[in-house]
Amino acid sequence: MALNKRRFDALIIGAGGAGLNAAIQLAHSEARVAVVSKVFPTRSHTVAAQGGVNAALANVLPDSWHWHMFDTVKGSDYLGDQDAIEFMCREAIPTVYELEHNGVPFSRLDDGKIYQRAFGGQSQDFGGAQAARTCAAADRTGHAILHALYQQNVRARTHFFDEYFAIDLIRDDEGAILGALVLEIETGEPLLIEAKATVLATGGCGQVYRTTSNAHINTGDGNAMALRAGVPLMDMEFFQFHPTGIAGKGMLITEGVRGEGGYLINKDGERFMERYAPNAKDLASRDVVSRAIVTEVKEGRGVGPDADHVLLKVDHLGEEIVSKRLPGIRESGRIFAGVDAAQEPLPVFPTAHYVMGGIPTDPYGRVIVPQGTGEEVVPGLYAAGECACVSVHGANRLGGNSLLDILVFGRAAGLDVIENLTANKHHRPMNQTSVDAAMARLTRWDQTGHGISVNALRNEFRKTMEDHAGVFRTEEIMQEGVERLKALRAQLPEVRLTDHSKIFNTARVEALELENLVDTGVAIACSALRRQESRGAHSRPDHPQRDDVNWLKHSLYYREGDRMEYKPVRTKPLTVETFPPKERVY
Ligand SMILES: Cc1cc2nc3c(=O)[nH]c(=O)nc-3n(C[C@H](O)[C@H](O)[C@H](O)COP(=O)(O)OP(=O)(O)OC[C@H]3O[C@@H](n4cnc5c(N)ncnc54)[C@H](O)[C@@H]3O)c2cc1C
Repeated sequence: MALNKRRFDALIIGAGGAGLNAAIQLAHSEARVAVVSKVFPTRSHTVAAQGGVNAALANVLPDSWHWHMFDTVKGSDYLGDQDAIEFMCREAIPTVYELEHNGVPFSRLDDGKIYQRAFGGQSQDFGGAQAARTCAAADRTGHAILHALYQQNVRARTHFFDEYFAIDLIRDDEGAILGALVLEIETGEPLLIEAKATVLATGGCGQVYRTTSNAHINTGDGNAMALRAGVPLMDMEFFQFHPTGIAGKGMLITEGVRGEGGYLINKDGERFMERYAPNAKDLASRDVVSRAIVTEVKEGRGVGPDADHVLLKVDHLGEEIVSKRLPGIRESGRIFAGVDAAQEPLPVFPTAHYVMGGIPTDPYGRVIVPQGTGEEVVPGLYAAGECACVSVHGANRLGGNSLLDILVFGRAAGLDVIENLTANKHHRPMNQTSVDAAMARLTRWDQTGHGISVNALRNEFRKTMEDHAGVFRTEEIMQEGVERLKALRAQLPEVRLTDHSKIFNTARVEALELENLVDTGVAIACSALRRQESRGAHSRPDHPQRDDVNWLKHSLYYREGDRMEYKPVRTKPLTVETFPPKERVY
């Protein structure tokens, strides 16, 4: 049977904040744009973002984009590229106003201005007093943003392929990207979408870990598609563990809770962050707070029958603040921990939350790969959002900077595609070999019978990641982990689905996701094993210091041969002076 085909100027894979903000630029420019999403767009994971988006509006306390830039560079443990960080922090202010004009119902101050709360790692005047930079719509900011962007796209006539799963990128012999093969999940029919430009906006990969704040859909599909297309992944060893996941479950309790005055206590009722970060205390950077919690538990000051978590106190804020500013948190506490946050403290422990690394791009969203002594753009390929690495987060992301990243660089990617379309008016010829290879990835799952189940391999893989690539990592633990993960990867050909007449198409999707998860997880573990220093979220008790002489560089992991390369950090900002590396204290 002939393969169904569609042609668009641009194909965007992913309908989260990044994909939708890229799409809206294209739709407004009259380009023919298709957005493919494996879930209905407003179920994309951006919907789960709670606390807010950073911009130096100075509505609550004095602020400037330059202070925001300083905090982001420091937060990144000096691994972030300072030109991209300057661009993002400057763009933050018009980006939030654009959201407001697009209909995002931000919480308001008494004077009518947008409400801003304090988040970790924020300061006034380059490291001074706490700032309040995070623009919030109660604790449902992502929900508000995603719905507004979706509605704007519908109005602009963006073409949505809802519940279509992207299987693989299609490329020609020169490496140019020609579109993607996708699967209509409901019918099981494949569809070839040809495009002059393809934007990967597939979000994060938190599902590589067993305990995570990420939804089931965050399986690193875009990262793995890029790897299979020969593109390396950058800085994958930097994975953020959010300090306050609901203990044993992983669902997120936003940092906004501590921004509103919540604080952590151990079994003795001690406010222990005062020992680890005397100035910023509970609002120190996430990596610092996560390590403090794990240390408290390891040293026997944990709470509960197994002494395996700590407590987040919110009840002292009172019923009114909790209901008005943190209604979603109260609901999550009730559902997942059986605790009413307005009455008693919440049990919390770090949870796998956010990948700082990803597909390497320039600030225009163009995917860049090393070539000779320089770099070159992969023709026709863009990436934006959590699957990309610009890099603005370096070794550790600050809360509120991810929504900002997806919006700023989603928009930048959309605008660059528009420019590109004026120069490249024609589709490149299709490459049947690449289409056949993508089809083979799908039809491989037509084989049924006895073998390892998707579920069994996935569970084992995610547990191994948790045990061997978690908050604290030593050479021995990681070496063992990499070997185990590679052994699990070698078992993929033995995975089988059972009788197709009795299963849904979603089983094929889960199998395809498992392959993506495995490739992405191995990239994290291999990159982590090689980096012999402690920086940001990558914490090695056997190499406890940051080593700027040998390791102030980005890592690049290639799937072929699990090879690593490195490239310099861009330390020169666009218009201001460089922030040179300093000891990072809070
Ligand atoms: C619980 C939680 C709370 C957070 N709170 C905040 C916050 O307050 N502030 C902040 O700045 N950041 C926050 N973050 C981080 C931030 O929300 C995410 O990094 C960001 O929303 C990611 O957006 P995205 O557009 O890159 O991807 P997503 O919103 O995850 O969208 C990915 C899209 O890709 C699609 N997709 C993926 N794979 C495929 C495939 N194979 N085929 C087709 N479609 C595919 C999905 O369907 C989806 O549409 C939070 C994260 C979590 C988990």
